[in-house]
Amino acid sequence: MWRPSERKVSEDFRPTWVEVDLEAIRHNARVLKPETAELMAVVKANGYGHGDVEVARAAIEAGATWCGVALVEEGLRLRSAGIEAPILVLSELPAGSEAVALAHRLTPTVYSDGGLERLASATRGPVPVHVKVDTGMHRVGIWPPEDAPAFARRAQEAGFEVEGLFTHFARSEEDEATTKEQLERFLDAADAARAAGVRPRVLHAANSGATILHPESHLDLVRPGIALYGIEPAPGIGAHLGLCPALTWRSRVSAVKRLPAGEAVSYGHRYRLERDAWLATVPVGYADGYPRQLTNLGSVLIGGRRHGIAGTVTMDQLLVDCADEEIQVGEEVVLIGNQGDDTIGADELGRLIGTIGYEIVSRVGDRVPRRYG
Ligand SMILES: *Cc1c(COP(=O)(O)O)cnc(C)c1O
Repeated sequence: MWRPSERKVSEDFRPTWVEVDLEAIRHNARVLKPETAELMAVVKANGYGHGDVEVARAAIEAGATWCGVALVEEGLRLRSAGIEAPILVLSELPAGSEAVALAHRLTPTVYSDGGLERLASATRGPVPVHVKVDTGMHRVGIWPPEDAPAFARRAQEAGFEVEGLFTHFARSEEDEATTKEQLERFLDAADAARAAGVRPRVLHAANSGATILHPESHLDLVRPGIALYGIEPAPGIGAHLGLCPALTWRSRVSAVKRLPAGEAVSYGHRYRLERDAWLATVPVGYADGYPRQLTNLGSVLIGGRRHGIAGTVTMDQLLVDCADEEIQVGEEVVLIGNQGDDTIGADELGRLIGTIGYEIVSRVGDRVPRRYG
């Protein structure tokens, strides 16, 4: 499979790239790992766009003992890269993937009788599984939670080792009461499972928001994703931890022209210059994952200063109004990250267009090479 991170820098003819600071990942892993609980590095969606293998390795160096993925395919990528840590597939295995997942020692999640049966017919011998309980997210998992103990018991009787029992919070970064209620439902289910003779070694619940805000939810293992990358799960959440954003998205100015007041630019002429201005072209577009909705809204850093996007973001290029600053071709452009004294965060871009930092970073495309430092 084509892997951007395996391309040589010399092949990156277009000067647009993402830098991932693996020391920032290690720092974040260290500050997020509780003393009393294990740390799972959630590296689904190519490590939220940062590069799953590299992030997983860095997090493991810093104390993570588990990796979490959404897809069997993602788990297989980690295994092919030689990652030996246990890897939990966070939802039930798709039908037909059981044999290959087990052959590569991916840990399955189970929550349906069908899923359990398919898994049982794909395996000989005791395989560790994690049972997911729906306590209020209502996406996947056993609902109602009261049904979880009997299900876990059936899994055990089918010969599986119920190694884990877990749940997922819907509002951990924004609402304490809902989170407490979900945790209560989960702990009740865990107690009832124990009473039914199932003794999962690992209870887990905490995503980034809960890892940061709700120590009582840490249990045996925490599963932060976004915070591992140094992005706050919601504004201000985690500020006291000193999380370091790991991703910087850079490019270089590819063309510059001086235009007179009154000229309009890019598709649809949606931006008209009010004054004579220097206009810079940057070779990044929506096909790279830079949202087209940032048309006339986003800004970039050039020469240590913030400049607004002028007109429509196109597939491969965007335009920047640099006003009276005479920009040079080849000057560095920061789309996400620091330059001079200013910073553009993924969450800032997300807020501008009604989404979150998670979506901004996870959509940075394969066409943008990742460099690691
Ligand atoms: C994505 C995911 C996480 C990580 O969530 P963050 O909000 O990024 O910390 C944890 N657990 C499960 C089940 C997930 O799907």
